[in-house]
Amino acid sequence: MHITYRRPSTLGVRRLDPKAPDADLDLSQMECESAPESISGWQCTRPLGHEGEHRAVFGGLGDGPAKAVVLAWTADDVPVTHVTPACMFCQETSTVELTRAEYRLFTEGEPIQDAMPNRPAPERELIRTGIHPTCWSDAFGPAD
Ligand SMILES: [Zn+2]
Ligand SMILES: [Zn+2]
Repeated sequence: MHITYRRPSTLGVRRLDPKAPDADLDLSQMECESAPESISGWQCTRPLGHEGEHRAVFGGLGDGPAKAVVLAWTADDVPVTHVTPACMFCQETSTVELTRAEYRLFTEGEPIQDAMPNRPAPERELIRTGIHPTCWSDAFGPAD
């Protein structure tokens, strides 16, 4: 983990720091909620699935303006290993590495095409049902 910004503790409670990064809040969606490893009490308040560094704003916590960024950090997005259901043809399970954002949306019930729109359809099918693309085409012929 690497801290890229930390609000100076010498600033007054109502003072904005001109050097602070943009909060990039998205109140209509789910927040990222990643927590910095070595500093407790803060969670990333940027939208889930954002690119680049994590940022936490004061919100209702701490001594600072609610929408001011208190901390920004970068962390490796450690992938989550997802074990698929057994394939209905060969009965074998598979493992697929998902990003944290993909995994969270998927396990919270988001439709898989919304949870991981960048993956090809056969891969999404594998993740959701465990059906191997090759088993499918062996059974029903190659997809057009
Ligand atoms: Zn984040
Ligand atoms: Zn199979």
